[in-house]
Amino acid sequence: MALGLPSTMPGGARTIRDLLASGKRSFSFEFFAPKTEAAEVSFWQTMRDLERLRPTFVSVTYGAGGTTRDSTVRVTERIARETTLTVVGHLAAVEHSVAELRNVIGQYADAGVRNFLALRGDPPGDPRGEWVAHPEGLEYSEQLVQLIRANGDFCVGVAAFPEKHPRSPDLETDVRFLVRKFRAGADYAITQMFFHADDYLRLRDRVAAAGGEAPIIPGIMPVTNVKQIQRFAVLSGADFPAPLAERLLAVEDDPEAVRAIGIEVATELCERLLAEGAPGLHFITLNKSTATRRIYEELGVAAVSR
Ligand code: FAD
Repeated sequence: MALGLPSTMPGGARTIRDLLASGKRSFSFEFFAPKTEAAEVSFWQTMRDLERLRPTFVSVTYGAGGTTRDSTVRVTERIARETTLTVVGHLAAVEHSVAELRNVIGQYADAGVRNFLALRGDPPGDPRGEWVAHPEGLEYSEQLVQLIRANGDFCVGVAAFPEKHPRSPDLETDVRFLVRKFRAGADYAITQMFFHADDYLRLRDRVAAAGGEAPIIPGIMPVTNVKQIQRFAVLSGADFPAPLAERLLAVEDDPEAVRAIGIEVATELCERLLAEGAPGLHFITLNKSTATRRIYEELGVAAVSR
């Protein structure tokens, strides 16, 4: 299946809004900020490997602790300045005053970042713990969307949850708040990882029925490590299918076999999502390039992107 990728421009010069409006499918990669020097070397190697695939955009998650935050901003700035990639700056409201949030927005903007992902973030330590807003901060991501918009001509994305946010009583409530985030100025959403295409399609259709018009990009995490993905699934509330878990656990001591199953399953999910009209695919790479590259090739994207 051909995605027909748009070309990228240096320094994040194009907005995700324009790239999605062009009608071409988006194909993007998410990383996390490296915490050690060795991890940083491998981070840039992976970035260079994946840069060759000419993704629509890349992004780096914004950690809950102070050091990771500095590292996120630093590597995001460097991607904007030193690569040909369009980069989305993640920003989370948790544990920040409004003044601090404005400062980070300014840092990103100075580096040429025009695209943001506005998040509330989770409480540090226990992500399921009680949410307490910073006394001079924000309560919901909707307010962060407004803050970023008020600080410049930026394109802003938000998070979406196909299986509902763990703190939400039901999907309808979540749909309502996602539509509010769009009305507050969000241009697009990226979803939490999920394993059942129908969960994404149901969210997309309900949001559209409730008047939400912005594109919702599915978040895909290819399985490369069984225990790790089970942990992520518990934290995010995603339903990790039991038959898939059984298949993976049967070969868990053979990393190549685990990766092959992960690639096969993620490729099937991506094919279905694209066939159903998803505006693109956002890969949570965990700073590794192999699985994402193989899926990209399986989907037949490489040929059209050069
Ligand atoms: P919100 O939109 O504020 O929603 C939080 C809860 O409040 C939900 O239950 C929602 O339904 C409800 N709600 C929303 N608006 C309102 C309102 N106006 N009134 C009442 N209730 C409301 N976390 C990080 O720390 N750093 C990252 O880089 C990061 N990247 C992510 C990327 C993606 C693609 C996704 C899906 C998540 C990411 N997260 C990240 C995790 C995210 O911060 C958490 O899932 C967090 O719990 C929810 O964030 P949110 O922005 O959706 O919050």
